[in-house]
Amino acid sequence: MKNKTNKLTRREFIKDLLHKLLLLLLGSFVFTRLFKSAQAGYVWQIDPKKCVKCGRCATACVINPSAVKCVHEFETCGYCNLCFGYFQPGAAHLTADAENQLCPTGALQRRFVEEPFFEYTVNEALCIGCGKCVQGCNLFGNGSLFLQVRHDLCKNCNECSIARVCPGNAFVRIPARKAYLKNE
Ligand code: SF4
Ligand code: SF4
Ligand code: SF4
Repeated sequence: MKNKTNKLTRREFIKDLLHKLLLLLLGSFVFTRLFKSAQAGYVWQIDPKKCVKCGRCATACVINPSAVKCVHEFETCGYCNLCFGYFQPGAAHLTADAENQLCPTGALQRRFVEEPFFEYTVNEALCIGCGKCVQGCNLFGNGSLFLQVRHDLCKNCNECSIARVCPGNAFVRIPARKAYLKNE
């Protein structure tokens, strides 16, 4: 009789253990799904006010070239002839010759509009997100050039590898519907 009771107890014990294990697995599955769906509506973005233009956006992204690109806000641009985002400091001539340009890839392009105004546009296919032009524009210009994560390229990694090394803590999670942050 005692033996039978022991056997039942052991069976009950194993059943109980399996039941708890199943609940634990279900719980972690539901938690993971909830966590993922909470994250799904959010994307990584750079707060331009916090960015210190360190250059790591060009090298620390998991994709190459980086998902970070320079964007240009035309409303705040001065259309300057002497653009500190475009020209090397102390450039000998204000021309589009490669030796006068600050951008290492020729991604920032200059077009004459009318005396004395020039328009600057970013060729994103060439931009590596190094932030050199951004630094120049922010030091002496209007700050119309700034870095942003391009969501058509970004993998929306759970942990952004640039955010981990960003010295300005400039990477933030924002609702996907907002998508971009202005330099204001
Ligand atoms: S890593 Fe941070 S501080 Fe450096 S350029 Fe990118 S956003 Fe700016
Ligand atoms: S200087 Fe760097 S951030 Fe600016 S357009 Fe060129 S590659 Fe992009
Ligand atoms: S989330 Fe990933 S792909 Fe997007 S900018 Fe960061 S490291 Fe690059």
